[in-house]
Amino acid sequence: MASIRVESLSKEFPGGRKALDAVSLNVEDHEVVTVVGPSGCGKSTLLRLIAGLDSPTSGEILIDARPVQSVPRDRNIAMVFQSYALYPHMTCYENLALNLHLKKVSSSEIDRRVHETARLLDIEDLLSKRPRQLSGGERQRVAVARALIRDPQAFLLDEPLSNLDALLRERVRHELKLLFQRLNSTVLYVTHDQTEAMSLAHRVVVLDRGKVQQIGTPDEIYKAPKNVFVASFVGSPSMNVFDTVMERGTFKLGPSTIRSGIDFSGKVSIGIRPEAIRLGGDIPGTVRWHENLGGQCLIGLVVGEIPITVLAQALPESNSINISFSPGDVHVFEKSSGANLARRSADRAPDA
Ligand code: ATP
Repeated sequence: MASIRVESLSKEFPGGRKALDAVSLNVEDHEVVTVVGPSGCGKSTLLRLIAGLDSPTSGEILIDARPVQSVPRDRNIAMVFQSYALYPHMTCYENLALNLHLKKVSSSEIDRRVHETARLLDIEDLLSKRPRQLSGGERQRVAVARALIRDPQAFLLDEPLSNLDALLRERVRHELKLLFQRLNSTVLYVTHDQTEAMSLAHRVVVLDRGKVQQIGTPDEIYKAPKNVFVASFVGSPSMNVFDTVMERGTFKLGPSTIRSGIDFSGKVSIGIRPEAIRLGGDIPGTVRWHENLGGQCLIGLVVGEIPITVLAQALPESNSINISFSPGDVHVFEKSSGANLARRSADRAPDA
């Protein structure tokens, strides 16, 4: 396996805005890194540049610390595409064997590797079938097998689960997680689905409009989002965010005055996760809607004028309920820059 390093990578398409703007990131040997962001943020462009399918406007790509710009195609990196890109006229066996044939590997060695890889992904029964005879999940496994059989230095996966229905998505996600663990691979995986990004990765890169917003472990990204974009994008249900003005670290929510623990005066956005809010306490709200999620319940309130969503264990007993939360669960973002003020003061704090 190998490490991947991307330094200040930019890509501008003719006549378009920058698809990638000075993106820097690294994937260590044996590490799984996910890149997550909304549609059009530059995820596929990033993978295509690393795979050598397109060239950057500026910046550098290093594989195992060696610049690869002069090696346009054969970087020994396997890519799994969103569409799976299997050859429809070939059986699964032939799809798996093709790359080895092109490399002039002997037929007996090809046969051994096809069966070994098929066993690993539990697709031996499918080898004689053509892609159109397979379900979405089976096709996905064949696409991963085809990448795997090349024995690549690293894997790039571009939204590999997006063509699957919700139930299958969850199952195949678990399978992929186990596979990554078993292979101990270097993996760069892009997705717009934050659950996928958080659950599969050692580290997550959050991308928006071609720029890296934050890189961190799933825990860091969730607990200490660097800015209001990351805070809103990561987490399900998404974080409550509302604008207000803070006076020396306090702000009003309905009739209540809340201490944020951040010494700041001025325009801010306040973020509180729905799961951090408890029913009961001294902040009064009016229930507007609720959704029964089975084991839990999502409640939409207004507190004063501010809409707040609460993830609760039970349905509300009346339309007037009180809520509370810990000061440590309040995230404060500067309105003008979107920066998390707690993180900014922590980043500035001198070393102890
Ligand atoms: P999605 O999740 O929808 O696949 P993405 O995050 O993978 O999106 P990209 O496909 O990398 O986004 O595209 C990033 C930006 O670059 C978009 O604004 C897109 O329109 C633009 N773009 C991508 N490919 C080209 C191209 N060949 N020519 C011009 N613009 C392009």
